[in-house]
Amino acid sequence: MLHSGRMEVEAGRVFARVFRQMKPRTPLADVDVQFRRYANANAQIRLENGALRIRMADTLAGAPEPVIEALAEILLSKLFRRPVPASSNDRYRRYLNRGDVRRNLDLVRQVRGRKRVEHPQGHVYNLEEMFEELNFRYFHGLMARPLLGWSPHASRTMLGHYDPPHNAIVLSRILDRPQTPRLAVEYVLFHEMLHLRYPAEHNGARRCVHTRAFKEAEKQFEHLREAKAILRKL
Ligand SMILES: [Zn+2]
Repeated sequence: MLHSGRMEVEAGRVFARVFRQMKPRTPLADVDVQFRRYANANAQIRLENGALRIRMADTLAGAPEPVIEALAEILLSKLFRRPVPASSNDRYRRYLNRGDVRRNLDLVRQVRGRKRVEHPQGHVYNLEEMFEELNFRYFHGLMARPLLGWSPHASRTMLGHYDPPHNAIVLSRILDRPQTPRLAVEYVLFHEMLHLRYPAEHNGARRCVHTRAFKEAEKQFEHLREAKAILRKL
């Protein structure tokens, strides 16, 4: 999965440029582009207090600049109730119809659709942010980020799980509450990250999920006992 921070800034520049072409005399206070984990190629635009807010599917994050420009022309035309230039529509559509893009969208829909995972930005905790902090602290920042999300239901029995076929870590929504200390959420996420790092071992018919290496690594977690104690009282 791509990391979108830089691409959001670049997309923001494209939107600002198209905006100035369309509305040369209208001041533009700010442009904020955010890539979201939508299941398809969606995009929305709003103008609020002179600032442009754009939300688009992260599946568009890898699109070449002319495609982002076409999308900016489409969205800004709609925003200002102007006819959408046919060439922009055409360029954008052609991109979405490209074989590799379509296959990627199919895959994303399949994975995100079937998993029923909710956005990593929860009501209280952001799993992507938390993942990167733990990644830095315990894995030298070397772990590739899996699909991260909150479960739609607040399960008490399954606080988290790692799903290898989908390469997804899902945490129970029950942890995404202000009264759940961050330490406990971090521990559950860390535990699932270890499942990614130390795959289950198969000894004949026996399947060992928490291997010796896994258990050794888990001891590295700071305030491990405190975290476990919090989870017992959830
Ligand atoms: Zn486990």
